[in-house]
Amino acid sequence: MKIGAIKETRPDENRVALSPTVCKQLIKNGFECIIESGAGLNSFFSDEAYVEAGATILSSASEVFSSADVLCKLNPPNEEEIEKLRAGTVLITFVYHMTNKALVERINARQVALFSMDAIPRISRAQTMDALSSQANLAGYKAVTIAANESGKIFPMLMTAAGTITPSKVLIFGAGVAGLQAIGTARRLGAVVEVTDIRPQTKEEVESLGGKFISFDTGDGVKIEGGYVKEAGEDVLTRQREILKKHLALADVVITTAQVPGRKAPVLVTEDMVKVMKMGSVIVDMAVEQGGNCELSEVGKVVVKHGVKIIGYSNLPSLLAPNASESYAKNVYAFVTHLASNEGFKWDMNDEITAGTLICRDGQILKP
Ligand code: NAD
Repeated sequence: MKIGAIKETRPDENRVALSPTVCKQLIKNGFECIIESGAGLNSFFSDEAYVEAGATILSSASEVFSSADVLCKLNPPNEEEIEKLRAGTVLITFVYHMTNKALVERINARQVALFSMDAIPRISRAQTMDALSSQANLAGYKAVTIAANESGKIFPMLMTAAGTITPSKVLIFGAGVAGLQAIGTARRLGAVVEVTDIRPQTKEEVESLGGKFISFDTGDGVKIEGGYVKEAGEDVLTRQREILKKHLALADVVITTAQVPGRKAPVLVTEDMVKVMKMGSVIVDMAVEQGGNCELSEVGKVVVKHGVKIIGYSNLPSLLAPNASESYAKNVYAFVTHLASNEGFKWDMNDEITAGTLICRDGQILKP
């Protein structure tokens, strides 16, 4: 069975879905690997490294499209790529099917079996395949280092002959995968870190990383299911915004990662709240692609509003391409070897991972 990867066409994308190391592992398992020439260059994986791993380099994406049985990608295919999809191909990529109905319909019309990497269930058995987590983890790190770079202030306390410099105050919204990595990174750089999350069970994790948890009574306005926030009432968010205003006024850096899966991101920093922030402070809104946790953030842009720099980069993992590609490729390896052997796919719909991720097959959409 031939497993292929191409050069991603999204303009701000440096990652690639298969690394030379992972190709080597797949080949050991009896698969063949085919890679578009230059696909790994922005992740610093040369064609020679793929060849050394046993993969075959093809000169164009079209050649990979026409001979791959399984095509691995990071970004959903664009129109041109959809046209190139061969009937019967298995496509493995991020798709976000819940918010991309038209795209799923277009891919389905090509008679392709589509597995979505963002639909991998967050269960312990699937942890090695959890690409959302591997990428969010790196993004949480990058968000803090970008903020540290953009801020005019140093993070750690410094005692010098000229007096003491106080540490930066970092305020983090959301203590999920990205948020926890952001806490650890900001702490390692010496900042004082405060954190808000509406899942009370995150308090212990936040404190174990050296963060201070901002507690407030959410009453019965938050519904939690399987460890995730399912719903948060507007009254809870209003109370939370009120409490956070005084913390925002003291913060030098704010990293926002709050999300409710499958929904628009909750707005936790309104324009009025930005106005109370210190001049020169920095917000990195990681939820910008889901509508943003900050009312003023713009996708892919850095804007300065009321003296505050608001960063809305939507592809932070791409800025750490070698690590992000390697981690994603390892997720793909675990996923592919779970779903298939070199003899073919198992199509075991009683398996929670297969059933959770197979979006369409044989011209039928399986996930609404
Ligand atoms: P996650 O589900 O692991 O964590 C989200 C956290 O937000 C949860 O702990 C949840 O309880 C919390 N939350 C929900 N509502 C809240 C509220 N009102 N106040 C405070 N906390 C609240 O998600 P994740 O994997 O850490 O990703 C976080 C966000 O970062 C997502 O929006 C994701 O799409 C985004 N992300 C962005 C990039 C980028 O490049 N910009 C990269 C990776 C992830």
